Amino acid sequence: KLASREFHPQSSVIDVAGVKIGDGTPVVMAGPCAVESKEQLFEAAEIVKAAGAQFLRGGAYKPRTSPYSFQGLEEQGLKYLAEARERTGLRVVTEVTTVEAIDGVAEYADMLQVGARNMQNFGLLKEVGRCGKPVLLKRGLAATIDEWLNAAEYIMNEGNPNVVLCERGIRTYETYTRNTLDLSAVAAVKHLSHLPIIVDPSHGTGKWRMVKPMAFAAVAAGADGLMMEVHPNPAKALSDGPQSLTPENYQEVMAGIQKLSQFM
Ligand code: PEP
Ligand code: MN
Repeated sequence: KLASREFHPQSSVIDVAGVKIGDGTPVVMAGPCAVESKEQLFEAAEIVKAAGAQFLRGGAYKPRTSPYSFQGLEEQGLKYLAEARERTGLRVVTEVTTVEAIDGVAEYADMLQVGARNMQNFGLLKEVGRCGKPVLLKRGLAATIDEWLNAAEYIMNEGNPNVVLCERGIRTYETYTRNTLDLSAVAAVKHLSHLPIIVDPSHGTGKWRMVKPMAFAAVAAGADGLMMEVHPNPAKALSDGPQSLTPENYQEVMAGIQKLSQFM
């Protein structure tokens, strides 16, 4: 299989508009859950950039559990993301939820995110495999590692080798945390596949207090990077406020990551 280490023994380094993922230095993708307004996004982007991340994240298309929740700014959100990239030099990663939105997202973003809820949307996987942009593939809510690697296979089989995996927690019987962050997946994926893997402790725990310890643990486990939610004012966030870091907490996490990376 294309994603397997048997097929490709050497670990892959994925180049996203000049930023290398999987070369030994953990990359950081940070930003709000959703693009809410120009002001909110630009403020978040400055905070994210100042503390040393490489990527700005933020959803323009939001896959919400309830149809009555904020659904995202859609194309206007993509335009704000592209503007934020011009202002800061950060790369942009954002989710694509439908086949129809792929061209637009590929036009404005450096990397397309396939979210947990779409990990087995095979039509979407095939189309992002043809879009020519690197893809961040999140693990499904209840996906085994084998199912997740097969989802990567769908993308790669269409001619796109630039896939980065993202562990974001899986559903278990535990309810204290939003999901159960499976850090053992980092070691498993490193053994089974040559693809880089990053970890999202924000969705993985649902609790901002747990983001720092799980981010450190992910780096110690060998993750190639982190995705974290940061909001200028989490209490006012339109989505995922309880798991979003304040600017101060985010700076603290980043300072720790930089120290930790020196030992890896
Ligand atoms: C996200 O990263 O914005 C997101 C919706 O995450 P997930 O697909 O992991 O739930
Ligand atoms: Mn979110």
